[in-house]
Amino acid sequence: MNNRILLTLLVLIASTSVVAAQPKTRSTVRRNPAIANIVREIDARNIEATIRKLVSFGTRNTLSEQNDPKRGIGAARDWLYSEFLKAAEQSGGRMTVEKQSYEQQKAQRVPQPTIITNIVATLKGSQPEATNRIYVVSGHYDSMCGSPTDAKCDAPGANDDASGTAAVLEMARVMAKYEFDATIVFMAVAGEEQSLLGSTHFAEEAKQKNWDIDAMFTNDIIGNTLGGNGVRDRNTVRVFSEGVPSNETQAEATTRRSVGGENDSASRQLARFIKETSEGYVPQMKVMLVYRRDRYGRGGDHIPFLERGYPAVRFTEVNEEFRHQHQNVRVENGVRYGDLPEFVDFAYVANVARVNAAALAGLAWAPARPKNVVILTARLSNDTDLKWEPNKEPELAGYEIVWRDTTSPVWTNSKAVGNVTSFTMKGMSKDNYFFGVRAIDKDGNRSAVSYPRPQGRQQPAPASSSGQE
Ligand SMILES: [Zn+2]
Repeated sequence: MNNRILLTLLVLIASTSVVAAQPKTRSTVRRNPAIANIVREIDARNIEATIRKLVSFGTRNTLSEQNDPKRGIGAARDWLYSEFLKAAEQSGGRMTVEKQSYEQQKAQRVPQPTIITNIVATLKGSQPEATNRIYVVSGHYDSMCGSPTDAKCDAPGANDDASGTAAVLEMARVMAKYEFDATIVFMAVAGEEQSLLGSTHFAEEAKQKNWDIDAMFTNDIIGNTLGGNGVRDRNTVRVFSEGVPSNETQAEATTRRSVGGENDSASRQLARFIKETSEGYVPQMKVMLVYRRDRYGRGGDHIPFLERGYPAVRFTEVNEEFRHQHQNVRVENGVRYGDLPEFVDFAYVANVARVNAAALAGLAWAPARPKNVVILTARLSNDTDLKWEPNKEPELAGYEIVWRDTTSPVWTNSKAVGNVTSFTMKGMSKDNYFFGVRAIDKDGNRSAVSYPRPQGRQQPAPASSSGQE
């Protein structure tokens, strides 16, 4: 045997053992025809009509007129309420619509006590085991011109954020007639430009009532496809997700410093789920995962949810045009400023709504994420032992273990392990990969991934025992 043949043999043996350690992923995405129908039914013409109607109220500043039937946020509020009620008519009584109001006391951007009203349309889940699991999708219907406290100026807010509001209303209209296992809340909030006031009120009330909000999506500025940088992109949407949870505890931080996990918050898993699910149903759209909570110097309605421990992400166009955001409508040196409908790409907004709807429907038809997933650390081993609580849903088929290299941004491999509540990945060291677990039902609907926390052996204290391992 010459050296060349020997080398080839060695390479073959080596590559065989790698294949054994990392079984090939079977194609795991199964198409749910109902999700494909939802995606098809979303109509850009409805979205355009909603945006133009919202712009027609002149301003939707939170401090603007609340009782004028034609101009101001009150007129927008009442019109939205009636539109969500129309959507609810298709639900056979499963969707209820309410005006959630409270009096906001004086604050930095609120010069006098002001009533803030969210429009909340709740589509009740039909499965007893899942109906308390809630998915929230929102846009903010308030707007601003150059000053957040100017209640009189024209503030068309066509993109920021009539676009997000229109997407949510269109999803409500289409999805109301479908029966989901879990509950979906379609929401238009106010007071966003006053410092996320409406969404904070909702999130705080949800926390007080101990609601199980499994995911929250905010859609904010989802309609501009020609950026101030001159780039036109009609086929990509950004999904912002935080890595380290906003509500991380000291103990969790200690674990993270020791064994990683800064890319594996529940919000990050949610973002990965959105990409994996939606791109299958909306092939014309690419989901660009952005691994940060929001853009520099900006915030959104997902943040109050994150701060209260609810997984949440933000959808936003890729190339923003700042001459059309938070600007008084005017022409200056031949440049048009202002957030006007002619700068909104309605077909693109519809595509972003489709990405949202595919992911929401996927989540609301899937089993819950596996709870209390742990990676056992009691024994030093080249195997990986995972354990979790059983799901409650009657149509559960089983679970999948997913994994990836520690440097990979998304899950790359999965393995169906059956309807069990523990599994050992033989010959795959927990030190070399990140692992997760997801649930799957008999129709092939998959949950988002749960990332395990370590259980068993204590992590070494920072300095004292670092030389012992
Ligand atoms: Zn906004």
